[in-house]
Amino acid sequence: MTVREFLDRFVFVRKCGGCGQLLEYDFCKDAFCPACRMKWNQVKVEPCPKCYGAALECACMPKGLSVTGALSLRKLMFYSPRRMGEPQNRMIYRIKHRPSRRISSFLAGELLPAVKEELKALGVDGKTDAVLVSMPRGRRAAATYGFDQSDLLCQALSAQSELPYVPIIRRKRGGKEQKKLGKDRRFRNIQSLFLLDPAFSVSGKYVFLLDDVVTTGASMAAGVHLMKKAGAKAVICLCIAQN
Ligand SMILES: [Zn+2]
Ligand SMILES: [Zn+2]
Repeated sequence: MTVREFLDRFVFVRKCGGCGQLLEYDFCKDAFCPACRMKWNQVKVEPCPKCYGAALECACMPKGLSVTGALSLRKLMFYSPRRMGEPQNRMIYRIKHRPSRRISSFLAGELLPAVKEELKALGVDGKTDAVLVSMPRGRRAAATYGFDQSDLLCQALSAQSELPYVPIIRRKRGGKEQKKLGKDRRFRNIQSLFLLDPAFSVSGKYVFLLDDVVTTGASMAAGVHLMKKAGAKAVICLCIAQN
């Protein structure tokens, strides 16, 4: 047995992102145990209520986002908070509460085909003409949990896709928590929460804008506005789950 195998078998504790059970050695590099993986594979092809396409192929956007002129919203699955306890919901909970390179890198790998498809459709070279931008987590949540899940996802996706990661969007200090506001006020409040970091540029680039979960699309829409203001050629939105 190699040292590496010894560590993987007996020292590192790796849990399934879906059910939390310890992963057997054969699956210790995976995000899921075999049962949760099967469930995940089913969820990815559940049909979109609008276009009837599989979640993985659907580009539909919530209204708040489509009015911004973003090209599409690619996602891995449709999310319903009512399905608490199912592997996909536990995965979303997990990526918000505990940083994991293994799971971030798994999810990035799942998003990769959509990124490649979009690049191909646009006839764009990802390395030179496109960039990856993250929608940053709220300051309070980032301080509480000590990490930003969209940032981790972007790092992993950048490594796999060769798209340069450009963390140009920052959260301003203060601002009201979105959760506590009604739908109309959310849209107005959200625009004031973000700013551009002058150290970075997306001018003339195709921007892939990533957030973990898209609900009303309000914060993603604010991000699209900012990217256009910063001179982006076009914006393609990416998320793990669309609510
Ligand atoms: Zn599991
Ligand atoms: Zn659709």
